[in-house]
Amino acid sequence: MQSNDEPEIGGPGVLGVEFRQLLEDSPVANYLCDAEGKLTYFNKAAVKLWGRTPSLGKEYWCGSWKIFYPDGKPMPLEEIPIAKVLKKGSREEGSEIRIECPDGSSKFLLVFPKPIFAKDGRLEGVHSTLVDITDQKRDHIKKETLSAIVQSSDDAIVSKNLQGIIASWNRGAQEIFGYTEEEVVGRSITLLIPEERLSEEDVILDKIKRGIKIDHFETIRRHKSGREIPVSITVSPVKDSAGNIVGASKVARDITARLESQAAMEKYIRNLETLNTVGKSISENLDVQGILQRVTDATTKLTGAAFGAFFYNNLDDRGNTFQLFTLSGAPREIFDHMAMPRHTDLFLPTFRDRKVVRVDDITKHKDFGKNAPYKGMPKGHFSVVSYLAIPVISKNGNVIGGLLYGHPEAGKFTAEHELLVLNIAAQAAVSLDNSRLFEQVKSLSEKKDEFIALASHELKTPLTTIKGYLQVLSKKKADKISQLFLDKSLCQVDKLNTLVEDLLNMSRIESGQLNFNLEVFDIREMLKEIIETFSYSSQSHRVTEKLWNDSVIIEGDRQRIEQAILNLMTNAIKYSPKADEIFVELEVVGENVVVKVRDMGIGLTGEQRRQLFTRFYRAEETQGISGLGLGLYLTKQIIDRHGGKIEVNSEYGKGSEFSLILPLAVQNLKKSKCI
Ligand code: ADP
Repeated sequence: MQSNDEPEIGGPGVLGVEFRQLLEDSPVANYLCDAEGKLTYFNKAAVKLWGRTPSLGKEYWCGSWKIFYPDGKPMPLEEIPIAKVLKKGSREEGSEIRIECPDGSSKFLLVFPKPIFAKDGRLEGVHSTLVDITDQKRDHIKKETLSAIVQSSDDAIVSKNLQGIIASWNRGAQEIFGYTEEEVVGRSITLLIPEERLSEEDVILDKIKRGIKIDHFETIRRHKSGREIPVSITVSPVKDSAGNIVGASKVARDITARLESQAAMEKYIRNLETLNTVGKSISENLDVQGILQRVTDATTKLTGAAFGAFFYNNLDDRGNTFQLFTLSGAPREIFDHMAMPRHTDLFLPTFRDRKVVRVDDITKHKDFGKNAPYKGMPKGHFSVVSYLAIPVISKNGNVIGGLLYGHPEAGKFTAEHELLVLNIAAQAAVSLDNSRLFEQVKSLSEKKDEFIALASHELKTPLTTIKGYLQVLSKKKADKISQLFLDKSLCQVDKLNTLVEDLLNMSRIESGQLNFNLEVFDIREMLKEIIETFSYSSQSHRVTEKLWNDSVIIEGDRQRIEQAILNLMTNAIKYSPKADEIFVELEVVGENVVVKVRDMGIGLTGEQRRQLFTRFYRAEETQGISGLGLGLYLTKQIIDRHGGKIEVNSEYGKGSEFSLILPLAVQNLKKSKCI
């Protein structure tokens, strides 16, 4: 390559021709410098190594593009091994350098420079050999990095042979299991396995021998101290260069923290669920016993208390005891003959001062055991060491009572328990307030019902007597005016009678005493009679009828059904003051008879339609029209009790249509099927 302009290399004594030829073809990089360090020769292998062809006789020390120490720091020229040899006149054995080639790649080299002396002993130059160790070096770096990774890992990384004998042990393994490398290498891995789990190792080794990896297997292993550690392990087969399985590598992760946080999370979710269910059930409940029992049960469970109880507050000056109301975790009989908590310094903070008391060991509390006669807990009382007391405070600030919890071991109740119970106690207090209000309203309403029942009953007797006298009088011969007044009085007495009868019926329904006399009858016939009487008595409206053209048999209380139909027809007339016609229809639809009463009156809004059947409901538009708001309530009760339905279609300002749907009697059904 440097054939023509190739300079003389050293003197004839420096490098003979054959020797030079030998170097030329050598796979090892060789080059020469003269005594000044100028490059005088290099072979093909050197050019390949450097990645460039340097200029002979012009460049110094070395043909490399850039030279560094192995750690990557730039190497000053005077530090280049050849320069040092020239300076010292002695050989340099195998210094390591890193070079960078013009294409950007870098290589690790071992340099062997050797001084060349003339016969007279004068230093003539240097011969240097370069050995490329890049591959070995990279391999080494890789191994070192891997080893550093293994060493610095927090997971235990352990290798073992197919007999389960430990071959390597990292820092993570030492941290997790407590043994040092010296203590375990050469010993069986079963050292870490609890006795009852020893069979796991056989299964693991069996799988490894078959080349199967075990992934994230959660189990228990043992620390040097004997403590058990939950771990997740992954075991993979290790193969030699020939591909034979020779052992296993095992990565074990301590999952204590994970399991703990998982358990804490599960507990938190469970608590939330209980809180929700308790909250929902107590807010839906209006019965005091039910609310307090649920609250006591749920909070006893949530706090992990051995027992929990709700005591009513009956704070007075006479130092009474608090009254046990609900109990959870223990049979109530235990308390039957036992003294209850009293107004002592221990309980007063909760029941009087609205304070939470949470004590890890109540027997060591300053106020415990001070009061005669028991000086502590009465005989036969549960052992209470951990103690928690939470006041249940009403909206007006009064302490309704206290939730008390006990456990025979110390330090069982935490701030978290306290918060949970406080939360539930607050919800319970609201429900108890509501329940008290509800009880008050209920008793007021019961009183009202009692009054209505009594008053209507009392009114009924004189009314019947008045009507009797009026009827007797009206049969006597009287002048026209007197007769007119008598008729009008009788009409008003009838109206009054209907109102009183409605009130009485309502009371009967409320007390479950409305009785029915069932009979089988033709409703078409009945309707015809009602319409006839109506047409005769109503002066303002005519009744237009459209009746089914055959008898329609139903089974029911004739009188009550007549009352229901009359209610609808009276309403149709009452609430269509500007019209002069109402419509009554009777038809059979499937297995039912439908009675429709339609008017062209004031109609109803959607909201009014929704409230129509509640007792005493009257729409605003009915001012000036007499009524108690009971007719439709009674009608619906009657129809419901006959297994029927009442439906309403109405448009505000246009009119309404009420439909009574009643089941046909069985014999009627048979008949209709025969047809
Ligand atoms: P009352 O007629 O004694 O007020 P009801 O129970 O029969 O009691 O009716 C309740 C309310 O329903 C009435 O006050 C009225 O506002 C409304 N209502 C009933 N029937 C009709 C109707 N046909 N058209 C419009 N509103 C009606």
